[in-house]
Amino acid sequence: MANTSTVAHRIEQLRAEINDYNYRYYVLDEPAVPDAEYDRLFRELQALETQYPDLITPESPTQRVGATGETTFDEVVHRLPMLSLDNAFTDEELKDFDRRVRERLGTDEPVEYVCEPKLDGLAVSLHYENGRLIQAATRGDGYAGEDITANIRTIPSVPLMLRGQGYPNLVEVRGEVYMPRAGFEALNRRLANKGDKTFVNPRNAAAGSLRQKNPKVTARRPLELCGYSVAVVDEGLLPDNHWDCLNLIKDWGFRINPEMRKASGAEECLDAYRSLLDKRATLPYEIDGIVFKVNDFSQQRTLGFISRAPRWAIAQKFPAQEELTTIEDVEFQVGRTGAVTPVARLRPVFVGGVTVSNATLHNMDEIARLDVRIGDTVFVRRAGDVIPQVVKVVLDKRPENARLIERPLHCPVCGSDIVQIEGEVVARCSGGLYCAAQRKEAIKHFASRKAMDIEGLGDKWIDILVEKGMVKTVADLYHLTVVDLQSLERMGEKSARNLVEAIAASRRPQLWRFVYALGIREVGEATAKSLARHYGTLERIAAASDDDLQTVQDVGPIVAGHIQSFFNQSHNKETIDALRSAGVEWQSESVDLAAQPLAGETWVLTGTLSEMTRDEAKEKLESLGAKVAGSVSAKTTSLVAGAAAGSKLTKAESLGVKVLSEQEFITFLETRQQS
Ligand code: NAD
Repeated sequence: MANTSTVAHRIEQLRAEINDYNYRYYVLDEPAVPDAEYDRLFRELQALETQYPDLITPESPTQRVGATGETTFDEVVHRLPMLSLDNAFTDEELKDFDRRVRERLGTDEPVEYVCEPKLDGLAVSLHYENGRLIQAATRGDGYAGEDITANIRTIPSVPLMLRGQGYPNLVEVRGEVYMPRAGFEALNRRLANKGDKTFVNPRNAAAGSLRQKNPKVTARRPLELCGYSVAVVDEGLLPDNHWDCLNLIKDWGFRINPEMRKASGAEECLDAYRSLLDKRATLPYEIDGIVFKVNDFSQQRTLGFISRAPRWAIAQKFPAQEELTTIEDVEFQVGRTGAVTPVARLRPVFVGGVTVSNATLHNMDEIARLDVRIGDTVFVRRAGDVIPQVVKVVLDKRPENARLIERPLHCPVCGSDIVQIEGEVVARCSGGLYCAAQRKEAIKHFASRKAMDIEGLGDKWIDILVEKGMVKTVADLYHLTVVDLQSLERMGEKSARNLVEAIAASRRPQLWRFVYALGIREVGEATAKSLARHYGTLERIAAASDDDLQTVQDVGPIVAGHIQSFFNQSHNKETIDALRSAGVEWQSESVDLAAQPLAGETWVLTGTLSEMTRDEAKEKLESLGAKVAGSVSAKTTSLVAGAAAGSKLTKAESLGVKVLSEQEFITFLETRQQS
């Protein structure tokens, strides 16, 4: 083992580094490193201090909560300290915690815990006098926080008056202020559009928003509060356990987390951990773990506290969604419409449950906004199924030889000029279908599920077919033979036959699918459907005037311009003619919308359907003239509720919207299709 002076030196180094990170995180709301990196350093310090207890000092960050620093707010001294939570990173650590709890309580019986999602926001304390909110404070260093009453009042889910009658005269409720994912993304988009600095994650956004000098700014931020404990009560009685307390504050008008549940013993806690982890990506807010709290207050009192955390609670952390890595290179990829996108090649890093080695940098404006260079150390974030993002550069770690990222002047694939139209953020390769990259992407789009739906024609085969010169335009697909395909490496006779059949089977698409498959800029699935329904035939779409196109739902001047320019280009006309000669026959549509059985109706689909996919159900409804919307409102005609339907069903019921089970829906379709 290292000698004591080396250990003391390392401890000093870690403390200095952690104190600096604390200051930037808690005081400046500008984390210098991702939490996972911070947690590693913190644990290293804890481990050294456990091994060398003589080296522990009261100032060590392991003995304290948060950080102190200059602030623009008045100080509020907490009547009961607001502590942190101990962390468990593995199942074993959670079991050790449970074992220690039982030893201290002197029991072999399973202990009852309350399991609550660990919301990733910041803790606040709210004081109520005679039911009226009189003061709100941040946690600060655990002993004193900042007076943020004016800002807290702007959050709609904070009760300004407690509900009901039975609340104590003086009571302190604690909870987490957080920013739901959708609000965070919208806020960051808004900031980025203005060229302002964005927030790295929802926690950082919540902290930055709550600690604004001007409450009007806080009011514009999408913050929410979830209550999780009652701290101090004067003149009044509380239940004798945490679970009942949570339900009590719910009656007082606080939101409490619907995912919380009770567990008996460590195994049930671990079950709760796993099921919450499974749900993590689907929750509308971020959580970084699960908190287990001993339910019984008398047991909590027996267990007591250590310097910075209670002994009766622990947070078991989920895998990190942010990590540090370096940018090794930046390459430019060319998409279907020629858009040239910078993609960062990263030192592979395990984040959000997968190894990430690429991340899009979107466009040159984004590169400038992030001020990112090749060689930089960056925060990479991968939350849920969202594609990995570079969210921040660690400037302190920038090497001297870091290289600026320059946009190439010529397409890396076909050598054509890259042009950027004034006012557009995206630069494009001017090669059109001459560019193999654009051709590949156009063919991939044409064959994709929502377009011509050619089964078995995956991206990999398209790359090979284009590279070998066997397919130059989408029409060439229909001339491929079994013999041609068999000449490809790893393509057996059976696969070749299947693929030829699948291509042939795609010859009679509905008109909207064909229009979508053509890949006209900004004509997505919904616009393609509107066009098909409005005009009924491809010829009429191609011949429509600019003004006429703009009468179609979803079509504005820009999209109308793209449609016209598409049909005016001779190579597109040639491709369409070639497809027709190859036997592709798109199906015209009935244009008489008003005559359709569900014309004017708006339907919503929710829950899991077992007999068909959502897309199929949507298509069926649309073919009957209904509009299919994503959310329930007073305008909704009917809701189809599959298995495990949630909030949309509740809302539909409360609005008196007609609800059909999947079986009822199928019967309904059958009768409609017969009529
Ligand atoms: P913590 O976040 O690990 O746990 C305590 C906090 O959990 C409470 O203060 C509360 O805000 C929150 N919480 C959420 N749901 C809760 C619930 N249901 N019940 C009780 N509390 C709940 O501890 P901490 O002291 O706030 O912060 C330490 C952590 O913060 C570190 O582990 C690290 O991840 C992060 N941090 C990061 C940096 C950085 O530079 N990136 C710096 C400092 C701290």
